Amino acid sequence: MTAKSSKPRLRTDLDLIPSYKAGQRPTPREDIVVFKASSNENPYPPLPGVLEAIANSAASMQRYPDPFSLRLVTALAQRFQVSTDSIGLGTGSVALCGQVIQAATHPGDEVIYAWRSFESYPIWTRMAHAVSVQVPLRADESHDVEAMAAAVTDRTRVIFCCTPNNPTGKAVKGTELAWLLDNVPQDVIVVVDEAYREFVTDPQVPDGIEFGRDRSNVVVLRTFSKAYGLAGLRVGFAVADPHVIDAMRKFAIPFGVSNVAEDAALASLEREDELFARVQALSAERDRVWHALVDQGWRLNPTQANFIWFRLGDLAVPFAQACESAGITVRPFPGEGVRVSIVETESNDRLLLVAKEFRHAHPASQG
Ligand SMILES: *Cc1c(COP(=O)(O)O)cnc(C)c1O
Repeated sequence: MTAKSSKPRLRTDLDLIPSYKAGQRPTPREDIVVFKASSNENPYPPLPGVLEAIANSAASMQRYPDPFSLRLVTALAQRFQVSTDSIGLGTGSVALCGQVIQAATHPGDEVIYAWRSFESYPIWTRMAHAVSVQVPLRADESHDVEAMAAAVTDRTRVIFCCTPNNPTGKAVKGTELAWLLDNVPQDVIVVVDEAYREFVTDPQVPDGIEFGRDRSNVVVLRTFSKAYGLAGLRVGFAVADPHVIDAMRKFAIPFGVSNVAEDAALASLEREDELFARVQALSAERDRVWHALVDQGWRLNPTQANFIWFRLGDLAVPFAQACESAGITVRPFPGEGVRVSIVETESNDRLLLVAKEFRHAHPASQG
């Protein structure tokens, strides 16, 4: 081959596509046990029956999986009392975020979402050549539904509502979601991203699936990654009008849900009682840590997810470093805040110590 003179031509807007920043993994240490509190994962290991299902399923990995994952689709339809054609599966619900944007937008169409929110929204939007319209969260971290509705133009095709919101933890109330749905055009898709729905304990926070029963523009996203503890297997699902689900399926990666993931999800659904006991314990632990922090003087907004958000501004990175020194790897958003997942009790307790010391060192820090 001759000398390579010119590089292959790529998209000219690559710099405008943000890169996904995954939560860091802790580096093992000699002195203390380290904890990963950076990706909102479930700290519990898989339940025994789930592990067995995975092992059985792995025995046929020379085969492609069922492209329709019909057993899982049927089980989910039963579980949530919807028709099977209202369920779409994805390689994690992050893939479904992309599928709904691809299915609904032409280049230049607009996607509205609150900001700061889930970092995949701007990535998928740009990948689809659509345009992000970011509506700042209110001072109390809630979705500014009035401003979101006001941002709608005739190019708006999708509105994301992340509830509870990642990374701030605040959930959208039923009254707010109802208002939003009543005040945007009925042909604009409203995605209710409920990745953390199972951790919600506030009765004012609605179940998106109920909202979708009589509205064809609601797309609810759920995942097996967080509460169900299957983050490593990559399976999520959408509940929506069959017309939308059909369109979203066109943008799915073929065989994107492995048979191992399907069997693990099925086994998890069968063991929801055991799993939800763990989820309840995590929600209670979240409330314990949150109240202890408030007692220390932190002004935190309530969280309904399995993480706590410290809005620290310029102190975000120093606080994340303090956590790291104490053996807790967290997720900093430089200049904005720090998201800390509720994980093993030892980690949560250690967080309280770090937070207390940090407040002594920086009395003005709010969080
Ligand atoms: C974690 C998360 C998801 C999806 O995660 P998957 O592992 O891809 O299912 C979707 N939305 C939000 C807001 C999340 O935090």
